[in-house]
Amino acid sequence: MRYIKGSTNSRMDTKYIFITGGVASSLGKGIISASLGKLLQARGFRITIQKFDPYINIDPGTLNPYEHGECYVTADGMETDLDLGHYERFTGIETTRDNSVTTGRIYQSVIERERRGDYLGKTIQVVPHITDEIKRRMLLNATKQPLDFVISEIGGTIGDIESQPFLEAIRELRWELGPQRAINVHLTYVPYLAAAGELKTKPTQTSVKQLQGLGIQPEILVLRTEHTLSDELRQKVAHFCNVDVAAVIQSQDLPSIYEVPVNMQQQGLDTILLNKLGIENCPKPELGPWCNFLSRRKSATKEIRIALVGKYDLQDAYKSIIESLAHAGTYNDRKVKAVFVNSEHITQDNIAEKLNGMAGVVICPGFGKRGIDGKIMAAAYTRTHNIPTFGICLGMQMMVIEFARNVLGYKDANSCEMDAKTPHNVIDLMEEQKSITQMGGTMRLGSYDCELVEGSKTWKAYDKDSLIKERHRHRYEFNNAYQEAFAAKGMKCVGINPAANLVEIVEIPSLRWYIGTQFHPEYSSTVLHPHPLFMSFVKACINGTTEA
Ligand code: GLN
Repeated sequence: MRYIKGSTNSRMDTKYIFITGGVASSLGKGIISASLGKLLQARGFRITIQKFDPYINIDPGTLNPYEHGECYVTADGMETDLDLGHYERFTGIETTRDNSVTTGRIYQSVIERERRGDYLGKTIQVVPHITDEIKRRMLLNATKQPLDFVISEIGGTIGDIESQPFLEAIRELRWELGPQRAINVHLTYVPYLAAAGELKTKPTQTSVKQLQGLGIQPEILVLRTEHTLSDELRQKVAHFCNVDVAAVIQSQDLPSIYEVPVNMQQQGLDTILLNKLGIENCPKPELGPWCNFLSRRKSATKEIRIALVGKYDLQDAYKSIIESLAHAGTYNDRKVKAVFVNSEHITQDNIAEKLNGMAGVVICPGFGKRGIDGKIMAAAYTRTHNIPTFGICLGMQMMVIEFARNVLGYKDANSCEMDAKTPHNVIDLMEEQKSITQMGGTMRLGSYDCELVEGSKTWKAYDKDSLIKERHRHRYEFNNAYQEAFAAKGMKCVGINPAANLVEIVEIPSLRWYIGTQFHPEYSSTVLHPHPLFMSFVKACINGTTEA
């Protein structure tokens, strides 16, 4: 098939790329999927990337971040795996609830159908009923919009018991669609044995054999490695795995995940894939703005430190915030070092030391009581020391509580989440939440409008846009009964959701940068479009540092 931009493109049948992983988890399948998506998008193809998670939860919304890292939220209000954040940050294309599927959702649909009587008395089985539903979901996105490529990442590793129905669905789809429309890219790990001084290919061979045993022959292998792979080693892998040597790609550790697309392109990942799918003569990827970002990132060597005050002692819990700071840092010509400060360990005695040298502070989102005293202390410290502070969701709520206690004098001010009976419920359960009993998927989720108060710092940060849209994930909310009392003492509500009159943003205009948002701006910062609030926050942090 010959690809001619703008003509053949629209007539091309959708192609399906399945990304699987073997040997170990955490090899970066999400980054490889996002990078491949980026490279195809950069050639003018219409793409989407979706994630299939074999766990039984309906979505990760009810999962503790220690289990699965951050819960990412799509604009249409789906709580999803954090890999969807990578897909959006790399491609700038919004994902939807159709891009995130778990075993739980698959079974839920099948069981609902069974209860309705749709199966007309048949016995419901993993094959074909569960696998058919997986296949339906794999094809679904392309039935709703014209797409050239659908990239499906399968979570976990291929040996997992719970992955089996997904692999069977891939096997069947490859057979049904044919080799020119469906392709498997398998990611494995090549360990380095220091004692032997050698890189070992056996786990990769075993993993591919396992895949072959399930009826799937991978066309492309991406080998994750900490050391450069020799040609000889790649030939060996090719020989044992029935894969062309050119299709054995290495994914070596790089200084930044954003270098992966370029690295994959240099090794010809996208060209090989297009050849295998029979697509010829397509335009070269246009990665100009992406490369500009990379070179700007490289030359931004001056470091500023920004504290992340939160309770989850693991990087992945605040993934999107860290990435948003990194984007804004690059476009402000700085390297942002996000320093985790565990709010559970903050005391009045050590706060000055803990925040020493920080150009700014992010008070992080979260749920429940644990660690909130430290967040409130941090909000007080930064307010009284005029340190740029960005409160996000629970972080914003903690700024409000701190202000109520220490400026308005309501010593018992609290959120009803922490103290249901507080007489000063400055943060209250939203009206619509009061009748809700189910935990999963019932928060105020996804994109909502927010009107900005003209002249406010936030309005200026958004380049004087008066109506913005941001994504949410919360049950509690600023109590409007207190708006006037707060305003009189200097904390203003400067962003309101017009439909429900909910406070979305508070700020203290007399301080350098002290802004709290009920929404999560971090979900919509991308490599090519850094988020305006993060841009303005990082700028304020830089202006406050005395640099040599
Ligand atoms: N726990 C708070 C609420 O439900 C904040 C949620 C969050 O930080 N995402 O409103």
